[in-house]
Amino acid sequence: MSAGVPIWRCANCRAGYFPEPLLCPRCNGGTFEIGRVHEAVVEEVSVIRHMIGQENWQPRRIASVLACGGPRMTVGLRDESGPGAVIELFEEGTAPFGLAKNPA
Ligand SMILES: [Zn+2]
Repeated sequence: MSAGVPIWRCANCRAGYFPEPLLCPRCNGGTFEIGRVHEAVVEEVSVIRHMIGQENWQPRRIASVLACGGPRMTVGLRDESGPGAVIELFEEGTAPFGLAKNPA
């Protein structure tokens, strides 16, 4: 697992995206700079209770989050963080996850 999640920032208008778009939906630019975001605020949480074709499925929490200085993205939640919580972003494989930020 690695800290942070990659985002693609349009070289022209600086809008951030995840995952990488073919063209910037905002300005149609096609050049992106890869950055990394480490923190996000949870906006909405939903629970996936069943998955077709999957036995032994454990309910999973996914969250729509707004990355600090970056785009809105969907991540897997690894704890009970709710809306408004600040989470730390990390990657497992190529999938983004979030976990409540430890108080400093
Ligand atoms: Zn753009």
